[in-house]
Amino acid sequence: MKKTKFYFSKKLFFTCLFIFSLISINAQTNELNKEDAIVIKEIYDESLTSRDTYKLLDHLCNNIGHRLSGSAGASKAVEWTEMIMNSYGFDKTYKQDLFVPNWKRGDKEEARIIGQNDELRVLALGMSVSTPKKGISAKVIEVKGVEDLEILGKEKIKGKIVFFNRPTDQRLISTGSAYGGAVDQRTAGPAEAAKYGAVAVVIRSIGTAFDDVPHTGVTRYVEGIKKIPAAALGVISADLLTQALKNNPNVKLFIKMNCETLQDAPSHNVVGELIGNEFPNEIITIGGHLDSWDVGQGAHDDGAGCMQSIQVLRLFQKLGIKPKRTIRAVMFMNEENGTRGGLKYAELAKKNNENHLIALESDAGAFTPRGFGVTAEASTIKKFRTWLPYFDRNTISYFKKGGGGVDINPLNRLLGTPTIGFIPDSQRMFDIHHSDNDSFDSVHPRELELGTASIASLIYLIDKYGL
Ligand SMILES: [Zn+2]
Repeated sequence: MKKTKFYFSKKLFFTCLFIFSLISINAQTNELNKEDAIVIKEIYDESLTSRDTYKLLDHLCNNIGHRLSGSAGASKAVEWTEMIMNSYGFDKTYKQDLFVPNWKRGDKEEARIIGQNDELRVLALGMSVSTPKKGISAKVIEVKGVEDLEILGKEKIKGKIVFFNRPTDQRLISTGSAYGGAVDQRTAGPAEAAKYGAVAVVIRSIGTAFDDVPHTGVTRYVEGIKKIPAAALGVISADLLTQALKNNPNVKLFIKMNCETLQDAPSHNVVGELIGNEFPNEIITIGGHLDSWDVGQGAHDDGAGCMQSIQVLRLFQKLGIKPKRTIRAVMFMNEENGTRGGLKYAELAKKNNENHLIALESDAGAFTPRGFGVTAEASTIKKFRTWLPYFDRNTISYFKKGGGGVDINPLNRLLGTPTIGFIPDSQRMFDIHHSDNDSFDSVHPRELELGTASIASLIYLIDKYGL
């Protein structure tokens, strides 16, 4: 009896404690809501109703098109984004000069299995050298990864085309991780195969769709190792080749491409600024990369991130939000095949002794927002998490540890600037990434705008409360 009584009082104590903590959490949330919930609602409302990000992206994709570094498209995009930010009347709009690699794809590539009529769907990998004018015809050796090359050795590889055919792992929920687990075949495969005397490399496209649209992307040659031509096959074409090899291991592949790398070309990062009215020397960077591959329209990768960055500043302006700190929208040049823009931005920041509070990059597609990845002190991440109640959980539901972007990571390395990566839903990104299918019609206006609004809301809170 006595024991039960004690049990009840203990239970009562914990119940009271629980209710008390709920009240205090609620009070805290309400207090935050009072200050900012209205502004954040306005940010989402304006983005979703104006669809300004979508309108800009429409122009970038349909009037300018793809924008490989050194191309006419890239130059047009530089001029146009500068003009747009000027027309909005941002406090400052300017360019940063740099030089970029200047690779040209040349004529449409050709590939076929000798003795079969079907043309295989093929795209040269970015930065690949050309085949001889008449093409290359050689036997094919199929591997699942670079580690197979050592096992096979020179005598089995020399004079052949190495075919990297390890698919992306469809079991992974994060398609970014699936991509990351397969992409070494593209980035390192050609240089590795060359060490064993391969004459060319073809890879199974690194993507998640089961179609025949090949995906390009950069390959990295190694100084001192022969540069051999390298191309990606559509997934269905890769399956045709693997079946042909099963039927006849001596089957030959013909491949022809005439890409070339010209002298580095002058280009620019484009920057727009709203100057802070309390701490103008504290800079918050929001960016995407303006260059894209030379197929499709670079809509998700990364026209979307650039247009979102401009629109974050535009939303502040339209809604009369006067930032305390300086907020910069940066269109980085050359993420895809050199990162020269990201490096230049960090280099100039260091040289000019700039004080960068934090940098955010949107380069994962224009899909429904899910969360943010943050590389910062644990206390900053903890603080960001207290802001989750401001976001509809169907858009932003987490802040995870670790995140950034290819263009802002140099800022972190050089100045120790904390970084944030915007994370949208990843299920469709690698169906279209670096391919003809990365086009404006694959972008949903509401998803794109929710991204803009989510980034703008986070930047609003960071600007107001710091890290
Ligand atoms: Zn990108």
